[in-house]
Amino acid sequence: MTRPTDLTLGQRPAGRTLMTADWLLAYHDDGHRLVPRGELVMEDGKVIFAGRRFDGVVARRIDFGSALISPGLIDLDALSDIDTYGLVTDNQPGWAKGRIWPRSYVERGPYEMYTPEELAFQKRFAFGLLLLNGITTAAPIASLYYREWGETVAEFDAAADAAGDLGLRVFLSPAYRSGGMVLEAPGKMVPMFDEQKGLAGLADAVSFIERQHGRHGGLVNGMLAPDRVETCTLELLRRTMDAARDLDCRVRMHLAQGKLELETMHALHGVSGPQWLADNGLFNERLIAPHATHASERDLQLYAEHRVSIAHSPLVSARMGGTLNSFAACRKLGINIGMATDTAPPDMLMNLLMGLVGCRVSEKASDAVSSAELFDAATLGGAKALGRTDIGRLASGTNADIAVFRLDDPCMTPTIDPITTLVLGGSGKVTQAVFVDGRLSMLDGEVANLDMRAARERAQRQFDGLVAKYPDRSWQHRPVSELFSPSYPLLAEGA
Ligand SMILES: [Zn+2]
Repeated sequence: MTRPTDLTLGQRPAGRTLMTADWLLAYHDDGHRLVPRGELVMEDGKVIFAGRRFDGVVARRIDFGSALISPGLIDLDALSDIDTYGLVTDNQPGWAKGRIWPRSYVERGPYEMYTPEELAFQKRFAFGLLLLNGITTAAPIASLYYREWGETVAEFDAAADAAGDLGLRVFLSPAYRSGGMVLEAPGKMVPMFDEQKGLAGLADAVSFIERQHGRHGGLVNGMLAPDRVETCTLELLRRTMDAARDLDCRVRMHLAQGKLELETMHALHGVSGPQWLADNGLFNERLIAPHATHASERDLQLYAEHRVSIAHSPLVSARMGGTLNSFAACRKLGINIGMATDTAPPDMLMNLLMGLVGCRVSEKASDAVSSAELFDAATLGGAKALGRTDIGRLASGTNADIAVFRLDDPCMTPTIDPITTLVLGGSGKVTQAVFVDGRLSMLDGEVANLDMRAARERAQRQFDGLVAKYPDRSWQHRPVSELFSPSYPLLAEGA
């Protein structure tokens, strides 16, 4: 018997590897099946068996004991910068705290808050965090508040290499937009547009995908990422959908995510975002749309009719007082739902618990949704959104993208059912091992090719540097000490 620690981080074990544990989640017929003491065999990056008992010869057997061998989780809006929401959660309103560019900052000329090295580093660090949480497929997302305009090709070339080094499956290209919101007066936000910048961003993204798609043994995949519906022009989105068809890739764009978007869409186009896209023939199954928390009933019918997938990130929505209305109602309409972290902590299991709670609260019913339905969204739903059947499930022929979750972690309640226990546990910290493409990307908190402790220290320094620049692009340029007050008053000098 081989111990997990006998495997080499960053490497794919040679020959057939059989893994077993108290529980295996295998795909059979048309859905996940729990297999007590099941066996999974992988070879050359593929699963060749997932079921009860494997009769063939194997090079090694690994027993994870009291654990669940699960398909790796799929994150459709995976945090890929150093999240800043913590700055404003207790310091509101956001427009007064640097969440919207004031006119004075736009006029002086927006600039990159990070150096190219910092931009590359934060994606690498973020990818490490995703792996620590059992996420094996990620479509990175980052805030554009801190950018001169859109994301850059250089940082995405670096991100593609980071995905290859660490061993994470990614769907990505630099995010672009033709507009942004500007703060004219307290609480008064208006859009400003620059069509050429949007079209140039799309051209960069297309050439990035042509160059990068398929690299690192297929870990790197293209996905177009226009930022959000209200800051994209019709022309930009028409060309985006044409490009997606030519490249055969998905498009992700924030949609029905908030009140400001709704008001802006009505002011600009007289209809909601989903309605506007549908009216213009741009609503189709290539679209992955975070967050749908502000979609009307009519909007949701359009998602269903046009087979648009929702990227559901209940943690970030709930923290801002919002919820999808509701997970169960969308499922009933036949809408495909995948899951997303979209914030720190990038913890998918925490998001599944939030999704369960949010749905039951909005339906006012304790049986409105089950743990398995949330787990389906984080695996099968995400894969469907991405148009893939070789991830999000463990069966003969799928990619060996696997997360092993411990069930005997001291913080876990005794297991009754592994899925129920993991969803109710609400913490990705119980992730023991992650394989992507059959390669060991994470084991016991260690990530291949990245020292997470050193990276955490560097991330802190980088974050502190960003905060110091906040006054530059905040309303009335107040000092940091006035922008962000401490949770409790600081004890006075000499007290
Ligand atoms: Zn979002």
